Amino acid sequence: MKINGLIKKARWESIPCGCGKNVMDSFPIKDCLHCKFDQCWKSVPQVDFKINDDIIDKNGNITKKQTKTIKEITLSRGDKYQDVIGWSF
Ligand SMILES: [Zn+2]
Repeated sequence: MKINGLIKKARWESIPCGCGKNVMDSFPIKDCLHCKFDQCWKSVPQVDFKINDDIIDKNGNITKKQTKTIKEITLSRGDKYQDVIGWSF
């Protein structure tokens, strides 16, 4: 998988985790920016994956079933924290 938009150290990675030991004081109950952005980053696919890429005629009928392998994605980042807000292919 090729990931476009990688940066060495995003701003959010410098924010220390503020979670405590108990559940009430931990993400996601506690609004911890580090853990929130870490979770977003971990949702980014790291390996190639397949999607449906069926051929559809003008009436909306599938004329050919096929899949396509996604080998490259591009990250979208927030301006403030450089956190991953999404990815596209
Ligand atoms: Zn945390």
